[in-house]
Amino acid sequence: MPHQLRERFLRYVKIHTTSDPYSKTYPSTERQWDLLRLLKNELTELGAQDVVITEHGYVMATIPATPGLEHKPIVAFLAHVDTAPDYSGENVKPIVHTNYDGRTIVLPDDPRQVIDPSNPMYADILTAVGKDLITASGLTLLGADDKAGIAIIMTAAARLLSDKTIAHGPIRICFNPDEEIGHGVDHLDIAQLGAVAAYTFDGGAVGEVSWETFSADGAVVEITGVSTHPGTAHAYGMVNAVHLAGKLLGMLPREFAAPESTTGRVGFIHPTSIEGSTASATVRFIIRDHDNEKLAAKGEMLRLICAALQAGYPTAEIHCTISSSYRNMGYWLRDRPEIMEKLRAACADVGVQSYDEPVRGGTDGSRLTERGLLTPNVFTGGHNAHGPLEWVTVQDMERGSDVMIALAKRWAE
Ligand SMILES: [Zn+2]
Repeated sequence: MPHQLRERFLRYVKIHTTSDPYSKTYPSTERQWDLLRLLKNELTELGAQDVVITEHGYVMATIPATPGLEHKPIVAFLAHVDTAPDYSGENVKPIVHTNYDGRTIVLPDDPRQVIDPSNPMYADILTAVGKDLITASGLTLLGADDKAGIAIIMTAAARLLSDKTIAHGPIRICFNPDEEIGHGVDHLDIAQLGAVAAYTFDGGAVGEVSWETFSADGAVVEITGVSTHPGTAHAYGMVNAVHLAGKLLGMLPREFAAPESTTGRVGFIHPTSIEGSTASATVRFIIRDHDNEKLAAKGEMLRLICAALQAGYPTAEIHCTISSSYRNMGYWLRDRPEIMEKLRAACADVGVQSYDEPVRGGTDGSRLTERGLLTPNVFTGGHNAHGPLEWVTVQDMERGSDVMIALAKRWAE
């Protein structure tokens, strides 16, 4: 069934699964259950075993080992069902550009949305020439992040369950909600998943594999000013917290430590929100670096800036609180090199040239790895995630399924 993956992908992207960072429920949105339940049913129909959906919305299933290989290590594959709240994921109308010819694409529902290969920002679409390209229609994101990952895993699962000639050990599948809002594995029971290693299919271009993510901290700076009537402010020593918040931001080394001025392995201090009044103000930050010591140094820099500001305004109060969010999975994966070696070998087995790409962000695998289940990330073929120009090709997703099957074989050696 050559179009199986394509049909799966088109089916999944039409289901509205946007997550909500402000929700108090888990999953954050009721609609994510629609896809989670569909996947549970599809896994059952494919003949997977132990298919469950937990009270928090984790779909898990087993692909039993080829007879005689039951004792081989259990390996798990994960993808997330939610799409990013940054852009609408409702009423997605996928468009298949069969045998894409490299022309500029104007998305029909909003002609301002253009993918022009002559623009260096979008030139990577030329890798899709000759393939079956899928885009959204202009008003929504596509949702290849991470429904490409789901289609890859489901297609590979279907092949493993139907083709008894593929030698593999026990495999676990898991689909989770709420990755995009940083809560993808909050309630995932690692013992229930029961794997010795796992892989998320949630990456970018074909061949991209990631065993490093950022290490991440959050910081909150609370500023208490001295509030007086503005008419007598001079006499009563007003210290305006709004001004202090502005000064604080002005003291940040933006030229070399902001997201918009850094690339690769250089981390940043990024103010994400500011709110306040004359009396008090709160500035929130995220701090990121691949290296834990450099991360700590960035936190220290923020504290020093706060201390300097405090020294200049002794009647105000400035407090900086830094908390840990997640850590670079590389600190753990370095000690278990076989997990990446098998992945690179599996890519080579199916003719995919793999390359390491340190993620400038976190993945569900960051937290899973920290909790003891080492989980690097694998490409899905998705591009331009979280926006209307998102695209993926059927053939690139098929490469992902090939890699998953080759990986299952490698773990049974
Ligand atoms: Zn994703």
